[in-house]
Amino acid sequence: MRSMVWLRNDLRLHDQRVLHRVGDDAALLVVFCLDPVQLQNGPWDVPRMGLHRRHFLADTLEALGRDLAHLGHELWCVQRAAPAVLPRLVSALHIDRIVCEEICAPEEEGEVEALRSAGVRVEPLWQSSLLEPEDLPFEMPQLPEVFSKFRRLAEAAGCTPRAPLPTPVALPPAIDPSIDPSIDPSIATTHALQPVAHFAAALRKSAALSESVASPPSAALSSSFPYREAACRGGERTALAHLEQYFAADAAAHYKATRNGLIGLGYSTKFSPWLATGALSPRQIWQVLLAHESRAGRSEGSEWIRVELWWRDYFRFLHARHGAHLYRARGLSDRATPLHDPQRFDRWCSGRTGHPFIDAGMRELALTGYLSNRLRQNVASWWVHEEAGDYRAGAAWFESQLVDYDVYSNQGNWLYLAGRGTDPRGWRRFDPHKQARDYDPAGEYRRLWAGS
Ligand code: FAD
Repeated sequence: MRSMVWLRNDLRLHDQRVLHRVGDDAALLVVFCLDPVQLQNGPWDVPRMGLHRRHFLADTLEALGRDLAHLGHELWCVQRAAPAVLPRLVSALHIDRIVCEEICAPEEEGEVEALRSAGVRVEPLWQSSLLEPEDLPFEMPQLPEVFSKFRRLAEAAGCTPRAPLPTPVALPPAIDPSIDPSIDPSIATTHALQPVAHFAAALRKSAALSESVASPPSAALSSSFPYREAACRGGERTALAHLEQYFAADAAAHYKATRNGLIGLGYSTKFSPWLATGALSPRQIWQVLLAHESRAGRSEGSEWIRVELWWRDYFRFLHARHGAHLYRARGLSDRATPLHDPQRFDRWCSGRTGHPFIDAGMRELALTGYLSNRLRQNVASWWVHEEAGDYRAGAAWFESQLVDYDVYSNQGNWLYLAGRGTDPRGWRRFDPHKQARDYDPAGEYRRLWAGS
């Protein structure tokens, strides 16, 4: 069998179900597609993928390319929508099937459907959660509407993550579309396939064009996740090194006390950017967390990291349960749709609301591509409740900016804050004055990002 691995948000070799599925095949092509729509403005007139995400993705792809090269493979990249390019590639290279990560969000499911409609055999494999959907003690339509009940049921049933899969030591022989003499030698060119190094350079360049106006270098120095520094770069090796280092020190034991911090790398795990790109598998985190606990003992902090990872799973399963309903203006509620005011939206995005705590958060986000969970909650609450904004516009801005943008967690958290998801309290309004007093008592954070 000749297979194509179509990589999506699973840019790693460890715990990679997709690569294991094709392990015994006769020949393999590994491809990554970037839909050009991602580089354009979306319905709320902001770029789908802003400059921070482009940089982080470029680093992630390049790192994966280097690791694949050790296994005799090029990572071929193309700036086209998968349904626009893969069917012709499959046919030109006599490929029997495409294997890819299953992503149960509407746009991503649409891509798989479009490929199937074009006659391509596609095998999506679920692999981004800690728990397997089939290990849950209920069918997906019975997923509890409340997180705490989901967690209680799963824990009572003894659900635990499976061990991560090993990194493959070999892959099937590579199909090389640029030199394979049995096929049209110009296939790579015809289909605009690029080796990853060229593709990543172009992606970085596209970010640099907008960057000169957007991000002064001093911002990177103060960032809580300085993704351009070696220790925080995109890619699996950096992710695994960060994971080991995090659990080797005593940070995990203090996580519950520090997790509401606002400044610096150490207040939370900072696993999210690597999880979002797939450079780090949650099951790998779980394994290292267990090893840490067997050495250092279980702590309130390590227990709380677990809880947060279960939240991540919950938003994934919520998508599996509710699908496109989560993307309606009213979400799962019957609330009315607010009118969109583009000028208010622009002021919020650029940190000019007039509230120093909120403005500091919005500036940090735009300048660095990262924001603490505490500030995410506050700025989202401000947009939805104080500005009466449409949560979908807020979610689109986060999608554009966050290096850890994750379709499930972003949509789920925004719905939750807007009272349009499954929150039993129905409405999450944060008082920014009180929040600033509680979490930034000396005003250090406000001075850092808002200068006041
Ligand atoms: P830690 O506090 O160290 O938590 C460890 C891990 O647990 C995180 O890496 C993450 O995978 C998971 N986690 C923690 N909190 C949450 C949560 N509330 N929901 C889901 N998973 C969680 N997270 C993203 O990864 N991508 C997003 O696009 C995203 N958008 C958000 C939008 C809003 C409006 C809000 C309020 C939160 C959003 N989050 C998102 C959740 C959370 O803010 C981040 O996961 C967290 O701040 C990442 O930093 P960390 O890795 O240091 O987290």
